Amino acid sequence: MSECLFCRIAAGTVPANKVDETEHVLAFRDLNPQAPSHVLLIPKQHVASAEVLGPEHAALLANLFALASRVARSEGLDGGWRLVTNVGPDAGQSVLHLHFHLLGGRRLGWPPG
Ligand code: 5GP
Ligand code: ZN
Repeated sequence: MSECLFCRIAAGTVPANKVDETEHVLAFRDLNPQAPSHVLLIPKQHVASAEVLGPEHAALLANLFALASRVARSEGLDGGWRLVTNVGPDAGQSVLHLHFHLLGGRRLGWPPG
């Protein structure tokens, strides 16, 4: 069994509040939400971060972005939303499995901190 937290969530061995999924991508609520809607989108297969993405991940990323739009619609984020991924320590990446934060439901400041 993988030691990776998000691999375990994808496998269903660690519980998560699932929002939506496709064959290869899972959306679930962040444990420590930073906005009224804060959903994490992950590939079910292990990918460490955006730093290692290449052309071989094109279909996976297209699926992930399509799922993000679907979740934003189902969350009712008509006023807009943000999709962000942290890479490495300076950006605050704390889980080393690629994930995109979908944030919405309030006015989001720019630039992020
Ligand atoms: P990062 O800081 O790596 O960009 O984002 C990791 C996110 O995962 C954080 O927002 C954190 O709240 C969330 N998180 C950490 N552990 C868990 C968990 O066990 N379950 C869920 N649903 N979210 C988690
Ligand atoms: Zn993983």
